[in-house]
Amino acid sequence: MSVPSDIAAARAAILGRIAKAAQAAGRASESITLTAVSKQQPDERVEAMLAAGQRVFGENRVQEAQARWSTRREHFPDLHLRLIGPLQSNKAADAVAFFDAIESLDRPKLATALADAAQKQGRSPEILVQVNTGEEPQKSGISPTEADAFIRAAREDYGLPVRGLMCIPPLDEEPAMHFALLAKIATRNGLTQLSMGMSDDFETAIRFGATQVRVGSALFGARSGPA
Ligand SMILES: *Cc1c(COP(=O)(O)O)cnc(C)c1O
Repeated sequence: MSVPSDIAAARAAILGRIAKAAQAAGRASESITLTAVSKQQPDERVEAMLAAGQRVFGENRVQEAQARWSTRREHFPDLHLRLIGPLQSNKAADAVAFFDAIESLDRPKLATALADAAQKQGRSPEILVQVNTGEEPQKSGISPTEADAFIRAAREDYGLPVRGLMCIPPLDEEPAMHFALLAKIATRNGLTQLSMGMSDDFETAIRFGATQVRVGSALFGARSGPA
């Protein structure tokens, strides 16, 4: 099979699994958006994904995303680009100018930089707060115990349009408890977007209320470089 038909088939299969998981959870499948994680994927696979009708994409680096999408986006006005990787404060202005959503807000310094950039540019992407549900020292994300205060500050003190939460559960743990924790923090803070679930666990995430699943390798195949 050719790349385009493989990609279209992979996308149809994932959308089918999303619909099935939604149905099993008693949820409408339209309440779940597929974010296609295109980081480190060859251009021909990304082109095939666009041809298959996919419009929501996730990238984890600002520069890589700009290189890939700046020109392409002119041809796809309904494209929606989400930054899902860690963001350095000195790249906040670039990210605010470029992305439709930033899912990795996790510290006051970054909140300041995003708020400054949003004010200067007169626009802001929607913002998700990343929560380090496993409290892993090497991982980005605000600790669950600090999440409520941080979310409140991000909205009220910094005026950021915080819409939801994102998490990446520890690799070696059952993800369900992490998804449940993220959903609980979102509910008590009145947040409606839950970005959780990747190639190996998106159906579990849907069971726990995911509104966006971030799927890379199960859609595109293996990535070409280190994550
Ligand atoms: C790479 C990445 C994904 C996609 O991972 P797969 O296992 O390939 O589906 C999802 N979320 C984040 C934050 C990522 O960095």
